[in-house]
Amino acid sequence: MSTLDIVRAALGRAEDTPDTSGHYGPYGGRYVPETLMAALDELSAAYDAARVDPKFQAELAEYLSEYVGRPTALTFAPRLSARVADQADVNAEQIRIYLKREDLCHTGAHKINNTIGQLILAKALGKTRIIAETGAGQHGVATATAAAFFGLECCIYMGAEDVKRQSLNVFRMKMLGAEVIPVSAGSKTLKDAMNEAIRDWVTNVRTTHYVIGSVAGPHPYPMMVRDFQRVIGVEAKKQFLKKEDGALPDYIVACVGGGSNAMGIFHPFLSEVAEGKVKLVGVEAAGYGLESGKHGAPLALGEPGVLHGSLSYVLQDQFGQIAEAHSISAGLDYPGVGPEHSFFKDEHIAVYGSVTDDEALVGFRDMAETEGILAALESSHAIAYLRKLVADKKEDLKSGEPMRILLCLSGRGDKDVQAIADHLGIELGDGLAPGVKGSGS
Ligand SMILES: *Cc1c(COP(=O)(O)O)cnc(C)c1O
Repeated sequence: MSTLDIVRAALGRAEDTPDTSGHYGPYGGRYVPETLMAALDELSAAYDAARVDPKFQAELAEYLSEYVGRPTALTFAPRLSARVADQADVNAEQIRIYLKREDLCHTGAHKINNTIGQLILAKALGKTRIIAETGAGQHGVATATAAAFFGLECCIYMGAEDVKRQSLNVFRMKMLGAEVIPVSAGSKTLKDAMNEAIRDWVTNVRTTHYVIGSVAGPHPYPMMVRDFQRVIGVEAKKQFLKKEDGALPDYIVACVGGGSNAMGIFHPFLSEVAEGKVKLVGVEAAGYGLESGKHGAPLALGEPGVLHGSLSYVLQDQFGQIAEAHSISAGLDYPGVGPEHSFFKDEHIAVYGSVTDDEALVGFRDMAETEGILAALESSHAIAYLRKLVADKKEDLKSGEPMRILLCLSGRGDKDVQAIADHLGIELGDGLAPGVKGSGS
């Protein structure tokens, strides 16, 4: 399969969700100011035309292969498999874990699959200016990267508090030529940046495209972002069947922030899920622990509510105000989740578990020590969940067949080294290079 065939399969999905009003069951929709309805209609129409347009498909395939570096590898992880088997007290050869290597994408994560797709569309719509909001900065960096690549003006809204906390990503965005606008309203974090970005879009909608970074936001974003991320699952399915001689994964495991890497790898397997051959597992951030109130697990503990223009499970207080999320990983530190995941949860199409900050660090170490891969802290949540999954599903192993697991390694962990050191109370300069310090040269 060429990258063009993959792109065609990804954009040409057979499933008819959402409905024409952008609903997945009760979730999704468009909860936006009246003035944005025309822009969302325009975007919907443009996207519907683009996804079946051979020219658009060819352009996307070209950039995904030449710039992003697709297809990404599917790597068998024998030593991680053995370690997880050991942790769950089963025989090593009974567990076969494969990694879908989105960490190998340009910029080090899957987000670029979506920003490239949206910017090709924005260009086709004649937009000259790109805006986005970002929490920790990763979506901002992916957007600024794609804007630089296409030569478009780029403005990133970021809570003033986040600007302070994430100075390195702010600097990255600036080096990529983007303007970073600190937002000092409210709690000075992600949700305030979102409001400000929407305000900007209302004002400048004729020239400006608003890039949403996950399967969230008003229709058509959750569908469009999902389709742009479906390349992950379309590739992985083909690669997996080949490497395992026609066997499917029993479980597909991915971390869930807004839910785009998970939806991207899950979605092309939906018919096998319906036949009971494949099970989907999403992993949310439990932060300091679900009972602590400081986490990023709206599917576990949120209530349906409106955030970012759509109805979905959201972390909120008793008055319906959006609650602050917490996770050691910036990408999972989001109080909402994409509406299709809410639908999947209610309909039992996928199951969702969670992993604490401390457990994620163990997952990070497991991957580093056994496979020589520094995984993103987000992805480390999915890794850490593997031992729970295998321990829970030991019964399945009685059939004599190995348990086959496909893990979405959504990003690489170089960006997280400082956060990990901070969490462990390690001063980077000290412990690592005493010889350098004392050499006196
Ligand atoms: C942003 C990010 C996530 C979370 O976003 P989703 O939309 O849930 O995929 C996960 N992993 C990495 C590496 C990220 O950068």
